[in-house]
Amino acid sequence: MAPPLTADALLAALKAEGVRVAEHSGWRTHNRNHKGPWGGMNGVVIHHTAGANSLGLCWTGMADLPGPLCHTHLSKAGLATMVGYGRANHAGTFAQNAHTAVVNESATHPRPDNAEPVDGNAHYYGIEIENLGNGHDPYPAVQYGAAVRWAAAICRAHRWSANSVIGHKEGTRRKIDPSFGMGQFRKDVHERLEHSASWNPGPTTPDEGLDMDAKAVHDAVWGRDAIPSPTSAATHGTNPTWKAASYLPEIIDRLATLTAKVDALTKKLDEKEARTS
Ligand SMILES: [Zn+2]
Repeated sequence: MAPPLTADALLAALKAEGVRVAEHSGWRTHNRNHKGPWGGMNGVVIHHTAGANSLGLCWTGMADLPGPLCHTHLSKAGLATMVGYGRANHAGTFAQNAHTAVVNESATHPRPDNAEPVDGNAHYYGIEIENLGNGHDPYPAVQYGAAVRWAAAICRAHRWSANSVIGHKEGTRRKIDPSFGMGQFRKDVHERLEHSASWNPGPTTPDEGLDMDAKAVHDAVWGRDAIPSPTSAATHGTNPTWKAASYLPEIIDRLATLTAKVDALTKKLDEKEARTS
């Protein structure tokens, strides 16, 4: 258990981790602290909003569940808006076994028990990721990456491991969010924590065009003598690799031969049928 990060420390940690942050007016004093404790802190909870344009809802909440409904709202474009500091109505109650796994930073997060004696809102930071949660609505890379950075920033500031991160669905049977796998999410948080906060992994494929014209690309690809020759080819023994440019005419030639044979067979069958009917 740890005291909560101050609002300034939380903000600084997020920015140092490369999260693009906006501050909703009044977020530093927007909380449910008059309804119960906040802290000590044990971990972070990942949510999806199950709706669109939900920033206002996260701030205000609903008649039976007043806001803030999280500490941070994350837009599709990856903008993290701070909407609360203090106790927030995001987690509700948690199963003891799920909470204990986070407290122990266990590598496995068990299916939550039915009974929920733990006050999740007291012990967890929460982020609401804007997504319909239907399994079809995508999480753009810039949004998912910002969620990973958000979770990693808080873990780093508290010196927690990625096993202090759970999905809402891992704390209680009542919930299904988020709609992505938390195992992979924790792996991604873990990878960030292996690096410094300023780590900026580049794109895995070069984003600049090749310095070649179309003919050069064509010749390099179609003219490259590197594809294993077909074992049925007469020259297989002496010519083990072919160009793609050789494969295509070979396929078309064989297809033409096959078509002629099928046509001949069909003709024979038709003639036979005519004789017997
Ligand atoms: Zn949730």
